[in-house]
Amino acid sequence: MLYNNLVEIKEFEAKSILTPCKLPDADYVVNPYTGCAFGCTYCYTSFMGRYVGKSNSDWGNYVYVKANAPQLLLKDLGKLKNKGRDKCIFFSSVTDPYQGLEAKYELTKECMEKLLEFGFRGKLSILTKSQLVLRDLDILKQFENVEVGLTITTTQDAISRYFEKKAPNVSQRLDTLKKLNGNGIKTYAFVGPLLPHFVTEEHNLDELFKTIAATGTKELYIEHINLSAYIKERLLKEMPELQKDIIDKFYNSQHKEYRQELDKLIKKLVNKYKLKLKLDSTLYHKEIS
Ligand code: SF4
Repeated sequence: MLYNNLVEIKEFEAKSILTPCKLPDADYVVNPYTGCAFGCTYCYTSFMGRYVGKSNSDWGNYVYVKANAPQLLLKDLGKLKNKGRDKCIFFSSVTDPYQGLEAKYELTKECMEKLLEFGFRGKLSILTKSQLVLRDLDILKQFENVEVGLTITTTQDAISRYFEKKAPNVSQRLDTLKKLNGNGIKTYAFVGPLLPHFVTEEHNLDELFKTIAATGTKELYIEHINLSAYIKERLLKEMPELQKDIIDKFYNSQHKEYRQELDKLIKKLVNKYKLKLKLDSTLYHKEIS
């Protein structure tokens, strides 16, 4: 089936859904979909294609729907001791749990309902780029420990449209953070990836932190850009019109000096806007020395 004549959709029965992970602040991940129609150019999960016979360049053009995810989750939850009291379950690590198809399939919603049915006592953590998460406010409010992150990489819709091609504009995401905060849901902003131009445009980074703080969100999760070969290849293919000086900034962003300089700026702005850095540090991938 093709969605919007562009995205290939396939429903299938998954074998497992609650997957142990090595993320710094989660114990398990739940990915109700394989693939993500938001198709961000910098997405590091484009490698998922190799598991379903797709290439990196197909990323964004297919979504495989784990139709049995909620029932499977309820079964998998039986493995948790003490109703998962000290565990964190993260939605989602290799897809967006609130991409457009969730409006139709409601798998993320039903999975959360299964967590409640099970009596999950741990932490539920959600990361998305979509205002669709607001549909589930009533469910979110029933968890003892829940947090929702919205990815905010810029304050400018034109830039978010450029890099995060089919995701909702950043202005909608900022508004979503505001509404979640207004409803008493704990939130954070995921500034990832940190776009390379910020190192020479402090005023833009200042504006970003100021705008996030104005939504009432207090915590930031910051990740430097990952430019592994497969990501770089897709990024350059998706954006053939990128100017050389911008490409140079992307390449330079992989050096330690760049990261340290940006980290200094971040520290200053985090203090200025009384924000808190999750994990007390920025995250980064391998760098060129
Ligand atoms: S929303 Fe997340 S998972 Fe989806 S394409 Fe963008 S970065 Fe990748």
